[in-house]
Amino acid sequence: MNRTKTLCCISLAIVAFLSVQSVAEQSYDVVILNGRVIDPESKTDSIRNLGISNGTIKAISTRKLAGRTVIDARGLVVSPGFIDLHQHGQNEENNRFKAMDGVTTSLELEVGTGDVDAWYAQREQKSLINYGVSIGHIGARMMAMRETPVALVPSGPAAHRAATDAEILEMKQTLERGLKRGAVAVGFGIQYTPNASRWEILEMFRVAERFGASCHVHMRHAGVKEPASSIQALQELIAAAAITGAPLHVVHIQSTGGPATPKLLQMITEAKSRNLDVTTECYPYIAGMTDIKSAIFDEGWQEVFGIDYKDLQWAATGERLTKDTFNEYRKTGGMVAVFSMTEEIVTAAIKSPLTMIASDGILEKGKGHPRTAGTYSRILGQYVREQRALTLIDALTKITLMPATRLERRVPSMKNKGRIRVGADADLAIFDPQAIVDKSTFQDPARYSEGIRFVLINGVPVVKDGELQSNVYPGRAVRAPLN
Ligand SMILES: [Zn+2]
Repeated sequence: MNRTKTLCCISLAIVAFLSVQSVAEQSYDVVILNGRVIDPESKTDSIRNLGISNGTIKAISTRKLAGRTVIDARGLVVSPGFIDLHQHGQNEENNRFKAMDGVTTSLELEVGTGDVDAWYAQREQKSLINYGVSIGHIGARMMAMRETPVALVPSGPAAHRAATDAEILEMKQTLERGLKRGAVAVGFGIQYTPNASRWEILEMFRVAERFGASCHVHMRHAGVKEPASSIQALQELIAAAAITGAPLHVVHIQSTGGPATPKLLQMITEAKSRNLDVTTECYPYIAGMTDIKSAIFDEGWQEVFGIDYKDLQWAATGERLTKDTFNEYRKTGGMVAVFSMTEEIVTAAIKSPLTMIASDGILEKGKGHPRTAGTYSRILGQYVREQRALTLIDALTKITLMPATRLERRVPSMKNKGRIRVGADADLAIFDPQAIVDKSTFQDPARYSEGIRFVLINGVPVVKDGELQSNVYPGRAVRAPLN
């Protein structure tokens, strides 16, 4: 009896000790120790430990934390994962390059899709990184005109003729259906559908406004040649935003604007000062890339861009084009790099406090533009470390907090991305600021960036010690509430 009582007291004491112990040394799924944590929202830039459980950041502390998986981040920057608002390639091949470049959320918002449900269903439980899509005016226009998609952008009637009133109505219905099914935004590529009237575009903006969706627009005209200049094209869009109240996001302002880019940025600053919701993005390369069959290369393209055949590079082979090879490839179709920008323009766009960074990337069997694999490391390596064009925290703001904020009115879950705070999604990019560098080039676009040491998606490491992990699919849908 006596002995039992003693044993009982001892076991009670052990239980009490263990529970004190577990409060003091709570164990997380993952802890990240001694990293330089940078959070653009709170302006934190300090050595901290992070505790992560169930895909969420649970603790940010100077105290030592314990966890089942321990990541030693000494000497490394711990940043919110990078959010790419403009990534066309949305499959396993592309996701691997994005993850190795620090991207945790990759969104196709410019071209988008015509069928939102099917797009999300294809990726559920199968995605390395987080994904999301807009409902696209291009897709809606192709559906209304019964053009079968063969490439990202149209080359048939949707590229080349005006819409009837009935077709415009059908496009509005397609947009509305997509938005009800949770499309993140509304996408436009007006330069690829040059016969879309100003009225047609306004009608699409009106639908977007009803759903609080931002319009992500590739502008109608590029360059400086009046009257069809990028300045006139931006006037159309700012007017559409003012008339309808829809939020406007101008994609790749430096590649559309060319030499007019500083003027376009000034126009956006002025529009914002009138309380219009206008934002923009750019990518850190002096060439764009698009399909040679698209309407962009209709009669007169040389004057529009101020370039010639030699400034076009065929992506499949790396060869520069001539009049003959241009005409030959224009018949078959395929991707072509367009060297139309100067380094001064690109740097000015990157430095502007208005711009987010978005890649406009797509790789197909290793072919494409180096921006797919290298955009974010290039910003942090070349423009932050080498050129000092941006401070580190300003650069991180452009690639984490600003894109998250752009979408959070329509997609409230974006309030938990682009930040390092308790309760935020554990989407993190952990990199060596002295070593981060892009390795992809126009000749060899499918090369992983270096210097990204760890990437976590919803708390799951997809890059460990600089190595991509296989057979992990922690990516989740970024989707607006259904209604
Ligand atoms: Zn575009």
